[in-house]
Amino acid sequence: MKIICIGRNYADHAKEMNSPVPIEPIFFMKPDTAIHRELNYYLPDFTKDLHHEIEIVVKINKVGKNIAPEFAANYYSEIGLGIDFTARDIQKLCKEQGLPWEKAKAFDNSAVISNNFLDKSKLDLNNINFSLSINDKVVQSGNTAQMIFDMNHIIAHISKYVTLKVGDLIYTGTPEGVGPVKIGDKLEGFIETEKLFELNVL
Ligand code: MG
Repeated sequence: MKIICIGRNYADHAKEMNSPVPIEPIFFMKPDTAIHRELNYYLPDFTKDLHHEIEIVVKINKVGKNIAPEFAANYYSEIGLGIDFTARDIQKLCKEQGLPWEKAKAFDNSAVISNNFLDKSKLDLNNINFSLSINDKVVQSGNTAQMIFDMNHIIAHISKYVTLKVGDLIYTGTPEGVGPVKIGDKLEGFIETEKLFELNVL
């Protein structure tokens, strides 16, 4: 399986990053070694600025290529929640030097994913509230209505270039409020009021 992440899909996050709002979806990938499902999270030693990015995650359930937006909903049935962990200090250097972002985005355990996924038929896909709390304080909250490109358009766009396969995960972008995590933090991710994951940073 592969992990595909959408960048700058919420205007308020693009603004906080001093980045322009994109005219088409921006995507990048993480390898399967990035997946993290455990309670304990060991802070990597190569960054001094590990940022959380809470994101709604779509799980692909059918092989597809060149999927039209109007048929994209047939290619997923479950929605999860994850964190696109980003070594912001390394990403800044990559950006300044015009280099790829992999070192900042694709490292081991950089893709936190909930163990539970929710049946999409039980959700209003264009109106899902989700949030991340650190030490019981909400630090990021968003609603999928704020996405610049909705799930179906994201799938259509990616599948023009990359064949989607069963089990692939698409991280759909983060709302504003990204920031650093530190040892001792307890992170909890929610869709509506349901807790989908918890992480203890060690
Ligand atoms: Mg992200």
